[in-house]
Amino acid sequence: MLASLHSILQEVNNTRHLDQLLSQTVQRINKTMSSDACSIYLRDVASECYILEAAVGFVDAPVGKASIKKDDGLVGLVCRREEPVNLDNLFQHPSYHHIAGLNDEHLPGFLGVPIIHFRKVLGVLVVRQHWNRCFDEDEVAFLQTIAIQLASSIAHAKMVSSEPVSGQTKSQSRAIVGIPGSPGVAVGVAFVVYPAADLDAVPDRQVTDVEAEVVVFQKALSEVRADIKRIMVRMSSVLAPEDRALFDAYLLMLDSGGLIDRTVERIQKGSWAAGALRDTVNEHARFFEEIEDPYLRERADDIYDLGRRILLCLQRGKRKPLVYPEHTILVGEEVSAAALAEVPAERLAGVISANGSRSSHVAILAHALGIPAVVGATNLSVGKMDKKDVIVDGYRGWFYLSPSAAMRSEYRRLADEEQELAIELDRLSDKVAETLDGIHVKLMVNTGLSSDISSSLACGAEGVGLYRTEFPFMARERFPGEDEQRLIYRVVLDTFSPRPVTLRTLDIGGDKNLSYFPIKEENPFLGWRGIRITLDQPEIFRTQIRAKLRASIGLKNLRILLPMVSHVSEVDVALDIINSVYDELIKEGESIQKPKIGVMIEVPSAVYQAAELARRVDFISIGTNDLTQYLLAVDRNNPRVAQLYDSLHPSLLKALQQIVESIAPLGKPVGICGEIAGDPAAAILWIAMGVDNLSMSAFALSRVKQVIRHFTVPQAQKVLTEVLQCEDAGAIRKILSQAIEEVGLGSLVRAGK
Ligand code: PEP
Ligand code: MG
Repeated sequence: MLASLHSILQEVNNTRHLDQLLSQTVQRINKTMSSDACSIYLRDVASECYILEAAVGFVDAPVGKASIKKDDGLVGLVCRREEPVNLDNLFQHPSYHHIAGLNDEHLPGFLGVPIIHFRKVLGVLVVRQHWNRCFDEDEVAFLQTIAIQLASSIAHAKMVSSEPVSGQTKSQSRAIVGIPGSPGVAVGVAFVVYPAADLDAVPDRQVTDVEAEVVVFQKALSEVRADIKRIMVRMSSVLAPEDRALFDAYLLMLDSGGLIDRTVERIQKGSWAAGALRDTVNEHARFFEEIEDPYLRERADDIYDLGRRILLCLQRGKRKPLVYPEHTILVGEEVSAAALAEVPAERLAGVISANGSRSSHVAILAHALGIPAVVGATNLSVGKMDKKDVIVDGYRGWFYLSPSAAMRSEYRRLADEEQELAIELDRLSDKVAETLDGIHVKLMVNTGLSSDISSSLACGAEGVGLYRTEFPFMARERFPGEDEQRLIYRVVLDTFSPRPVTLRTLDIGGDKNLSYFPIKEENPFLGWRGIRITLDQPEIFRTQIRAKLRASIGLKNLRILLPMVSHVSEVDVALDIINSVYDELIKEGESIQKPKIGVMIEVPSAVYQAAELARRVDFISIGTNDLTQYLLAVDRNNPRVAQLYDSLHPSLLKALQQIVESIAPLGKPVGICGEIAGDPAAAILWIAMGVDNLSMSAFALSRVKQVIRHFTVPQAQKVLTEVLQCEDAGAIRKILSQAIEEVGLGSLVRAGK
């Protein structure tokens, strides 16, 4: 049974259409468990009933017709209990309820397990037998394992199914829920981006010139053939004969009619080569995956590998520039900075990413560009979205796929109102961020892409609070040299002068990797990251500091910020290096003003040593993105736990208040540069705490400024006192939204006026 489990799970994973998925699954389970019948009931949200969606082993099963009320019968019992119900004779159970049309009188044995996805019961998987006996423990465990896997596939398939989900008409629009990544609303057309050579991420696309597409595919095949032959020659002296045989097998597979003919057939039906290849490779690989023999089963991996090689050639061959729709909604499993940067700014309307959370880099970039984003949309079936109409609601973290015309026009109206609001907010650019009672909070911008420098200036920022230097490192194929870096930094320093510019030292590791400096770790966020790397590789650090100092020649606005500090000794060593580089440059005859140095507080140990850290440097900047992740023990990029990630968690607010209070006697400025600094409602809290400066995306700046200009410090403190009584972030948000509505600024935190 265990050997079959693997292949059933593979099948569940790979089947894309809901009906096919369910009917294949019941058949495979029934055969493997030698049960007499198997069925799946799925919950229909509209009617609050469970509908029989697939069945095997019953005469004339009323599939699609039989329905059971949510609290009725044994199916209802399994759902309420959220655990297996295992009975030797269901007819004697008090909850038994006959399902009209189901001929099951001869099947007393019953085992039902719930199908649960992210705490929601989606349905029930049932096996029946004609014996009067309970199923054994192995059988229960087997069925539960399949139900768990089935849950995510069902959730996935339901989302992409072109058929309406039971009870729903095609014209109805359903919100698909992710996480708010960047505020705003947009109506546009999905444009799917996918990583090079990732078969699973290839979208469906249609072609009209079938012959040309077949030629493209044949060309890719010959390139792969030539590549493999080249590798074989090169490797012949290094590889053992049995390892070389792999390449022979590849060549055989490449010439096999199955792979080529099936792909060509699909192209002839109108699919583009990449999509046709994806389906053929999956089909072939599945065949091998079902074979019991472990050696042959592993051939499936070879087929996938081969498929990826062909895909890579197809992608290389496709050099035509991408044509983005007028209102592009960029969609992907993982939308990279490069993919985002490739879309002409005037065409990019929104982003939807299956991965990521509020503070992941796609969200930060979207925020910086002022476009709405939904991230962590775990149910996203990227391949099915290309060219579909989409609405993105970045306030709620929802999006609508193929929405109704009414929905589209409603959201267009909201988007127009947003535009009007943006114009109104633009007028604030030359006004200061001062509370009604005259307290000035310095508002700065976070940057890292050269394209966002001009928008940063236009929004009236008082400086750069955080320049993430890793972006220029990520955009290259090797470490940038000292002069190369100097020129990049000089542009920002010069553009903003005399306003301060905070250049953070290289913060790689964690989720930010350089292709040319790969770091493989079990726990990258707890590993070699930020200052830990730069202190261990002082040559990288010294080069960067030299570049920064030389970039500041003749200017007086450079500030250097140290990320990921968890021990005071790290600051001491970093300061020694910075001082020694400074002395070195002075000796070389350069005339440089000593920069102000700051430390980021982004891990819990630094919260408790905020004063010790502040004593050593000139300023403190709180990185709430990482502080939230480390204080709450929630990976900031993991969509599974994204609902737990919230920078307004009461413990975060207490930590922030503690930092501000412990540094106050030292008179050193404290700022916040995580994403929460750009949340207009949260600004009330920072005014109340006495935070000196906030650094955020250019887009958020005027919104935050608007809030600051509508409150007095005592008013804000009253809100803070109320907030600090709350036990969860939800309650805190409610209080903040209410306070914002009361001063007439509700449109800053939701769509519409
Ligand atoms: C933070 O952690 O809050 C921060 C600003 O840095 P990054 O998002 O680049 O990790
Ligand atoms: Mg950080």
